[in-house]
Amino acid sequence: MLEITDIPTEGYESVKRAVDTTTGLHAIISVHSTVLGPALGGMRLWAYETEGDAIFDVLRLSKGMTYKAACAGLDLGGGKSVIVGDPAAKTDDLFKSMGEFVESFGGNYITAEDVNTKVEDMAAVNSKTQHVVGLAGKSGNPSPYTAWGCFIGLRACMEEAYGSSDITDKVIAIEGAGSVGSAYAKLIADAGGKVVVADIFDESAQKVAAATGGIVVSPDAIRSVECDVYAPCALGGSINDETIPGFKSRIVCGAANNQLLEDRHGKALKEAGILYGPDYVVNAGGLINVYNELGPEGYEEQRALGMMDKIYDNLKEMFAISKEEGICVARAADRFGERRIEAVREGAVN
Ligand code: NAD
Repeated sequence: MLEITDIPTEGYESVKRAVDTTTGLHAIISVHSTVLGPALGGMRLWAYETEGDAIFDVLRLSKGMTYKAACAGLDLGGGKSVIVGDPAAKTDDLFKSMGEFVESFGGNYITAEDVNTKVEDMAAVNSKTQHVVGLAGKSGNPSPYTAWGCFIGLRACMEEAYGSSDITDKVIAIEGAGSVGSAYAKLIADAGGKVVVADIFDESAQKVAAATGGIVVSPDAIRSVECDVYAPCALGGSINDETIPGFKSRIVCGAANNQLLEDRHGKALKEAGILYGPDYVVNAGGLINVYNELGPEGYEEQRALGMMDKIYDNLKEMFAISKEEGICVARAADRFGERRIEAVREGAVN
């Protein structure tokens, strides 16, 4: 039996907890904003130590989704869900129960895959709600598209930092050889870049290295390895007081959400002379792809890929705002997104 309770949270439209003792579900859904449209964001399954950790994560992630959709020009708000649990023990019943939780938002929250949730899990969610995207036979797994968006972002960062978007012989240090990291590595290698990779599961890193002619380093070493680009593709918070002094790269451009441990680390990167491709701008490819599943025309890959090209121009505009206003790129990206949300809120555009 699913029990849903409110977690009133300032600055958020709706945050709720669901517990189902029959299926073992313990989850939080956070809807940060629906100003631009229904809140869309993935469903993360993680063995959080405390519920407080899960709430902290889902609040940051859902807010990030608001900015991600706004910057990508999508008519979507920001939301996210997290399930507290052991990824190795997931069941169809758990996801069905989660589907009921999603359904209780009446379409204000739309879910999709995220860390430790896959297309098959979304099928179980879909048995209880229509408010799910990234389904098999439609836009499918968003990860390759997220990787493609990162690659577009990487070229924009290269042009800004080196005056050319050419990746040949540039060294990209990828932290996390998962769904996105492995696909991103392949795109980089195909474009002539050199891959250095690390994962807490050595086997995953070895596979990526074998597929790309890259090399493996330990997860402890990846953040301070000699490279042109540090690409965080694991979990968030890897840009912080401890890691920034050790970075050898000129660019940070990767897929992980919430890469900056705190907002001030965006400024710290600027002061260290490191160009930042803001996470929610660079990793919007997957969101853009699933968004294309929602319209009445149905999913079309070419239309989705065309929309992803905008990541390049948006980043160039953010770099320009950063220079003009003397602010870090992370803040410039926030401004870029906020301007669109405010314009829609005030009815200036739709
Ligand atoms: P994933 O679970 O497939 O991959 C994550 C990988 O990181 C795993 O292989 C894991 O073992 C590894 N890892 C975890 N901690 C690590 C550490 N400290 N050092 C090195 N490796 C570590 O997840 P994914 O779908 O590839 O997503 C990666 C990141 O990108 C996440 O932060 C996710 O929120 C973000 N993201 C993903 C998508 C998408 O389409 N999948 C979209 C936007 C953002």
